[in-house]
Amino acid sequence: MKIFIDPGHGGTNPGAIGVNGAVESEINLDVALRLGRILRQAGYTVDYSRTDDTTVSLSRRAMLANEWGADYFVSIHCNFNTNPVYTGCETFFYREGTVAQRFAIAVNNALAEETGLTNIGTFQANFAVLRLTSMPAILVELALLSNPSDAQQLSEASFRQRCAQGIANGIFDFAPV
Ligand SMILES: [Zn+2]
Repeated sequence: MKIFIDPGHGGTNPGAIGVNGAVESEINLDVALRLGRILRQAGYTVDYSRTDDTTVSLSRRAMLANEWGADYFVSIHCNFNTNPVYTGCETFFYREGTVAQRFAIAVNNALAEETGLTNIGTFQANFAVLRLTSMPAILVELALLSNPSDAQQLSEASFRQRCAQGIANGIFDFAPV
């Protein structure tokens, strides 16, 4: 089972900046590397769109996954909302009624369960990495960098590890090795 992990942003694009100064691209990469380690230990084959702080275009991220022949694509992000009360995890997929939608539900439920985050839900979205990938693809928004509590938790190594474990648990259930 080949899982392609896409840590959002990086390089010239830091993504969102938390209310506590946390940088989205760094959180995404750390959680992605933690997720990859968990999956490899469980016997999965893992590849990444980036493993350091470099700039990778959205189309290249999808192309790398397609050329590698990934079975599933998981993009890792943190969200930001103008309403600081908005909190929790949410996961996006490209089309309703697809394997990707069911994969998104499994991963988001497992993430919420492992972390204790509010389960905002799963939603359709026309994101380039979801549209351009040829395998079931999801984009996970771990939590809200605009929410003080979420941003604080996202800055802690132990919480990032639980995020990675939660996503891994969803993959274990939905796509057994
Ligand atoms: Zn992002």
